[in-house]
Amino acid sequence: MPINENMVQEIVQEVMAKMQIADAPTGKHGIFKEMNDAIEAAKKSQLIVKKMSMDQREKIITCIRKKIKENAEVMARMGVEETGMGNVGDKILKHHLVADKTPGTEVITTTAWSGDRGLTLIEMGPFGVIGAITPCTNPSETILCNTMGMLAGGNTVVFNPHPAAIKTSIYAINLLNEASLECGGPDNIAVTVEKPTLETSNVMMKHKDIPLIAATGGPGVVTAVLSSGKRGIGAGAGNPPALVDETADVRKAATDIVNGCTFDNNLPCIAEKEIVAVSSIVDELMHYLVTENDCYLASKEEQDKLTEVVLAGGKLNRKCVGRDARTLLSMIGVNVPANIRCIVFEGPKEHPLITTELMMPILGVVRARDFDDAVEQAVWLEHGNRHSAHIHSKNIDNITKYAKAIDTAILVKNAPSYAALGFGGEGYCTFTIASRTGEGLTCASTFTKRRRCVMADSLCIR
Ligand code: NAD
Repeated sequence: MPINENMVQEIVQEVMAKMQIADAPTGKHGIFKEMNDAIEAAKKSQLIVKKMSMDQREKIITCIRKKIKENAEVMARMGVEETGMGNVGDKILKHHLVADKTPGTEVITTTAWSGDRGLTLIEMGPFGVIGAITPCTNPSETILCNTMGMLAGGNTVVFNPHPAAIKTSIYAINLLNEASLECGGPDNIAVTVEKPTLETSNVMMKHKDIPLIAATGGPGVVTAVLSSGKRGIGAGAGNPPALVDETADVRKAATDIVNGCTFDNNLPCIAEKEIVAVSSIVDELMHYLVTENDCYLASKEEQDKLTEVVLAGGKLNRKCVGRDARTLLSMIGVNVPANIRCIVFEGPKEHPLITTELMMPILGVVRARDFDDAVEQAVWLEHGNRHSAHIHSKNIDNITKYAKAIDTAILVKNAPSYAALGFGGEGYCTFTIASRTGEGLTCASTFTKRRRCVMADSLCIR
C-alpha cells in the first residue's frame, strides 16, 4: 500500500505521543522549573485543602505514614548516596520515627471560655502556603515531617531544599503528592523547583503569597529568613554538650553518649557534640568510652592531623561531615578495626574540634573542676544557640541548675540525645527544632494562626 502524507502524519503523531509519554515527568508530582509556578500551584492546592474536613486531611496523613514506611529504605539509601553523609540503617530508623511519631490533626485543638457573656473560642487556622528551607543532613525526614504538620494545619508548602540533597528531596515531595492524590486530595500539597538556589530561595522569601517561612539549617539561613520581613520559624544550629557529674551512672552515661553521638554519624542537630565531665570521674568515663563503647582514643598528634583535615583552613570540611569514625581516621592515615565508631580525646573547651559544631563522631572530653565549673563550660560551648543540651546525673538540684543555666529547647537527662525525638523517650518527633525563635519542637499547631471567635451573650448553656 502506498504511503500518503496523511499516513506519515499519523505515524509521526503516534511516535511523538510515545516520546511524550517517555519524557513525561512520571513520578514527579510537585516539581517545577520556576519558583513562581511552584508557589502558584501550592496556592491553588491550598484553596482545596482549606475546604477539606480535618478527617480528610488526617486520611492523607495516614497514607503518608504508610508510604514513608514502604519507602524508608529507598529514601535512606538515596540520602546517603546523594549527600555522602550518614548511614543507611539509622536513616531508615529516622524515617520510621517520622512515620510513627509526627503529630497530625490531633494537635489542632481549641481553647474555649464560656460564661455569662457567651462563648469564646481560640481556633487554630492555616497560614496558607508556607515556605520551607530544608537541610542536607536530614533531607527527606525534614520534608516529610514538615509537610505532615503543615498539612494537618490546613496549609500547603513550597520547599527550597538544600541543592546537595535535591534528588532525595524530590523523591519525598513526589511521595507526599501521591499520598494526597490516592486519598482524593489535590496534587501539589508540597512543591519545589528542580534546581533550588539562593535565588529561588529569595523569590520564595519575598513572594506576596508566602506569609510564613520555616528555616531548618545553620545560622546563615535562619538569619536570612528572620531578616526577610516575613514571620519566620528559625530552627538553627546547635553544639550540644553532654555534662556528666560525679553522681551519674558513669558506665551507662558512656554508652548513652556514644549511642547518641554516633546516631546517623552525628548528623542530627540534637546529637552530643562534646562531653563536659567533672574531674573526679573523667578517667572512669574515658575508660568506659574506650573499653566498652568502641571509641578510639586519639593522640595529640592525631588530634592535630584531624583538625587540619576536618577544619581545613579554619572552615568545616563538608567532605568530613556525616562520615563515620573509621573513614575520618583513614583520612589521616590511621587504620582501625571495623568496630570503631567514635573518636575521643581530652582537651580544653577552646579546642577547635570541641568548640565547633562538627556533625561527625568526634567527642572531645572537657575536664571541669566541679559541677559549677562544668555548667559554666557547657554553657560556653553551647554558644547561646539555646538548642540542645544533655546531662547524666542523679542529683536533681544539679539537673535543675544546669537546665536553668543552659536554657535550651531540649535537655535530655540520663539517656541518648535521640530520646528527645521520641526515640527511646516519650513525646512526638520533629526534625525542625525552632531553637532561635522559641517554638521548640515544631508540630502542626506551630504552623497555625490563633483566631479568636466570639459569640456574645449566647451559646453558654451551663
Ligand atoms: P545549611 O545552613 O548549609 O543549609 C540549610 C538550608 O539553608 C539549605 O537548604 C541551604 O541551601 C539554605 N541556605 C543556606 N544559607 C542560606 C542563605 N543565606 N539564604 C537562604 N538559604 C540558605 O545547613 P546544612 O548543612 O544543610 O544542615 C546542617 C545545619 O543545620 C547544622 O548547623 C544543624 O545544626 C542545623 N540543623 C538544625 C535543625 C533544627 O531543627 N534546629 C535541624 C537540622 C539541621
